[in-house]
Amino acid sequence: MTGWEAERIDLKGMTLPELERFLSRWGKERYRARQLFRWIYQRFAGDFDGMTDLSKEFRGLLTGSCRISGPAAERVEVSVDGTEKYLFRLEDGEAVESVLIPDDGRRTLCISSQVGCALGCGFCATGAMGFRRDMTSAEIVHQACFAAKRLEGRGERLSNVVFMGMGEPLQNVPEVSRAIEILLSQYGFGLSGKRVTVSTAGIVPEMLRMAERYPVSFAVSVNAPRDELRSHLMPINRKYPLRDLVAAMKRVPLRSGRKVTAEYVLLSGVNDAPEDARALALLFRGSRIKVNLIPFNPHDGGRYAAPGRETADRFREILVGAGIQAITRERRGEDIRAACGQLRGSVHKYGNRTGGSGGVAAGGGAPHSRT
Ligand code: SF4
Repeated sequence: MTGWEAERIDLKGMTLPELERFLSRWGKERYRARQLFRWIYQRFAGDFDGMTDLSKEFRGLLTGSCRISGPAAERVEVSVDGTEKYLFRLEDGEAVESVLIPDDGRRTLCISSQVGCALGCGFCATGAMGFRRDMTSAEIVHQACFAAKRLEGRGERLSNVVFMGMGEPLQNVPEVSRAIEILLSQYGFGLSGKRVTVSTAGIVPEMLRMAERYPVSFAVSVNAPRDELRSHLMPINRKYPLRDLVAAMKRVPLRSGRKVTAEYVLLSGVNDAPEDARALALLFRGSRIKVNLIPFNPHDGGRYAAPGRETADRFREILVGAGIQAITRERRGEDIRAACGQLRGSVHKYGNRTGGSGGVAAGGGAPHSRT
């Protein structure tokens, strides 16, 4: 990008009211913002030339002072099971990844919200790289633009978005909120709140605040039924212990029939014993919380292992026997290292890439991840 391009104002990532305010400085009517929104998020325009319902003069004005950011994916990998992984090089040279998971009628995109993560969960590849920076709303929402455009090219539609890639979305609330508004806007992606899921390691106050603001779904990375073990696996537990976390999960306002999902990465010999399952069932008893069990997916440098099938099945059976809805998540995209927890996001700046598949230390995909 040239210096001139960088100086132009990026319209991608603005919410509709922000865009309306921006255009009002030029005396433009509010419906102009809606027109632009449709071009950017429904027709995935990358410039203003083809916006034929805008006057030539207005297009010239926009071209002179604005831009629509949209880095092409530097790498696209496609798994034998149809899962796709996209690597985006950001304008400052950082990189993030997104994963698209086709599943029956659904097309679910798992997006990143931070480059790296500060929370340092012991089993997480993203956590191992540390925190580099927050992503902007433009960078967050562009992942959805890219996937939706790609899907449109083959007559498909993006149906679900999950904030389960790199980073803790509730530590980047302003930018994630703006992205959510664009995803939910009828002039943007037009997704219902049921189809947008925010996955958190358990930032309790922010989860409750966001639940008040947006009708989105939540997935919480729980991973242990006792504070001592959870604090060991997830240091954030020292700040928001299980009692507070589970109370918050029960308080999240739920629309009819909706449940909060508890994500539980099964680590062999660590948190997969029958007594762990029983303790978890006690924690969630009488709630609307459902449990997704995720057998650990190994990644470079990881010190944990996945339990055997029998152990995972037994764990699930104990939960189900106690009246808790529980499923074991099917592994997706393993051959391209796009499975939950395999993604590292440590794509080094300026092309010095290591590890991962095909020379890319795969990004995104924290194990507080996809449902
Ligand atoms: S599991 Fe989520 S919160 Fe924990 S380190 Fe990984 S990305 Fe961060």
